[in-house]
This record gives sequence, structure tokens and C-alpha cells, in this order.
Amino acid sequence: MPTFKAWVIEKAEAGQSLSFHDFDEADLMDGDVTVRVTHSGLNYKDGLAMTGHSPVVRRFPMIPGIDFSGVVEASDHPEYRPGDTVVLTGWGVGETHLGAYAEKARVKGDWLVPLPEGLSPAQAMAIGTAGYTAMLCLMALEHHGVTPKDGPAIVTGASGGVGSVAVALLARAGWHVLASTGRADEEDYLKSLGAAEIVDRAQLSESGKPLAKERWAAGIDAVGSTTLANLLAATKADGAIAACGLAQGMDLPSSVAPFILRGVSLLGINSVTTPGRKRREAWARLASELDLDKLAAMTTTVSLLEVGGLGERILAGGTRGRTVVQVA
Ligand code: NDP
Repeated sequence: MPTFKAWVIEKAEAGQSLSFHDFDEADLMDGDVTVRVTHSGLNYKDGLAMTGHSPVVRRFPMIPGIDFSGVVEASDHPEYRPGDTVVLTGWGVGETHLGAYAEKARVKGDWLVPLPEGLSPAQAMAIGTAGYTAMLCLMALEHHGVTPKDGPAIVTGASGGVGSVAVALLARAGWHVLASTGRADEEDYLKSLGAAEIVDRAQLSESGKPLAKERWAAGIDAVGSTTLANLLAATKADGAIAACGLAQGMDLPSSVAPFILRGVSLLGINSVTTPGRKRREAWARLASELDLDKLAAMTTTVSLLEVGGLGERILAGGTRGRTVVQVA
């Protein structure tokens, strides 16, 4: 029986366990494309899955890892042939469908996108779910109609994965970027990505007024909770905040004041089930708009064996930028 190496989460009465072992290929789930995974990434949700801090895994045993790049080994899908290089993010992979921290994955071909021209498989995972989500946030702000002429843009959780890519993309698009972080020692890093000013995240994390002095026209928020409430309260009239994360919390202790008195918009971003056409557009834009030197500066690479120990670290805000998992 062919096997491959994988991290596996199992659930017992005492709680869940995570271990690295051989996995039977016959136990892969249904899908019309089998991929030899070459790279994966470490995302906040992978931290939740591996530690069990939040019930994101809804099937056991589960191979964690919500994104990968790799080479097609076998395909019954009309669009993919053996040898094609592909990228996957979302669709419940690593949550309800066996995931990416493994040498092999079997998924629906409709979930894949071809590796965008101009990116290597490693660079695609340096971007990963977090960077792709940052692009979806930028696209949502543009669709809303806010522009750099309207005022600055703020990014929260700026030293993290979504945040680092968001800073680089917004700066490239001409925005005056305010980077909110709890890590004062990352000022040089954030400025090298394109941040114009650093905002101490403590200014935003305590509960504030329903309406505050108008400070930014746009924002990308990876943090949620009171931080998002304060972002909305200080958004200029007719501005917008794209909200994608919950690193501070899932709650939103806000009021309708920013919406009804300033016409502020809250744009929700869900990267998991974004339809294929929009996915490809986002990846094509990432390939052409994200400075690859900046991407390299925000990337750390670990081995497949090492990623199993990094769940707690990402949840504690202890990883900077993006972490690529080198599988092959
Ligand atoms: P990271 O851990 O890389 O980044 C999160 C950052 O948030 C940290 O680096 C830290 O930045 C900041 N942070 C952490 N804890 C707190 C806190 N208690 N209060 C305020 N800020 C905090 O995670 P990712 O970039 O991978 O993901 C960010 C968020 O976006 C997560 O909540 C994730 O689940 C969500 N997400 C959602 C997606 C969607 O489809 N909606 C897709 C991808 C991600 P700093 O040290 O600079 O302050």
C-alpha cells in the first residue's frame, strides 16, 4: 500500500493530538486531481487547527494545512494534466478536507488555480492564503471606489502575514500607509515594505468612542474586535474598511454611528469560497503587483517536520510576515 508523510490531527476523549507519520494513500478523500505538494504556508487558521484553540477542524483524522502549491500527479479534470504546477487556497482544505501538511493531496480540480506566470511554487506559498486575502481586501476597497487621494489607509496586524502583504500592496498602489502593530521593533521592517507611519496597536485595542476624529479613508483589518470598532469610528466620510480577520477577537463592539453619520462601509472578505474567476484575477494581480524582493523580505522558510511545532507561535503573534513550509 503506497504511503506518504503527513501531519495528522486525531481526536480522542482527552482532546486532540498532532503527530507526524505515514498516511495511506488509499485514505485520501475524493477528488479528481492528485497533487505532489511541494510547498505550503503557515496561516493563523493553521495555528487554530493544530492547537485546537478554535474548532476549525470538523473531520478527524485531519491533515492540517489550508494552502499548497505543487505538481499534478494524476488528473481526471479536463483543465489539469500530470506535470502542471498548481496552487490551492481555502475550500475547507485542512478543515473538512484532508490538507496540505503532507507530501500528497487529492482535491477537486475546480478548487485549483494554475501557478500564476512569474511566480515560483515557493513564492506562491510565500503569498499563500494570507497574501491572497490581502489582495482580495485591496480589490474590495478599489471596487468600493476609495482612492489614495481620499486620505491614508490603515493596516492592522501589520507585521503578520495578511498585514505585511497588505502594507506592500497598498504602498505600491500609491496609498499613504499607516501600519498598526504591537511590535515597535518591527518599524524598520514595516517601513521597508512601504509603511509611511507606524501606529501603536495599543491606541486601537481599547474600547473607544462611537465616532472619533477622522484619520483614514480606507483600511485592511486582520484583527477584529475593538480594533475594528475603532477603525470604523475614525474612518473618513464615505471611506471603507475591508475586514478579514479576528486576531484580537471575533466580537465587534461597535455602533451604527460610522455607517449612518459618515457613510462608512464595512466590506467583509471571505477567501475560502471565492469563485474561480475572481481567484485567478487576484493571483494574476499578485504576480504583477507584489514586489518580489519585498515578498522575500517578509518570508521565513521551515521544513514540513518543523511546521507542527509552530501553531502556538502564530496564534501568539510570534511569527513575522509569512512562513513557507518546504515539503519537497
Ligand atoms: P498572523 O498571525 O500572521 O498575523 C496576525 C497579526 O495580528 C499578528 O502578527 C499581530 O500583528 C496581530 N495580532 C495578534 N494578536 C493580536 C491581538 N490580540 N490584538 C491585536 N493584534 C493582534 O495571521 P495571518 O496574517 O495569517 O491572519 C490574520 C487574520 O486574518 C487571522 O485572524 C486569520 O484568521 C484571518 N484570515 C482571514 C481570511 C479570510 O478569508 N477572511 C483569510 C486569511 C486570514 P502585530 O504584531 O503587527 O500587531
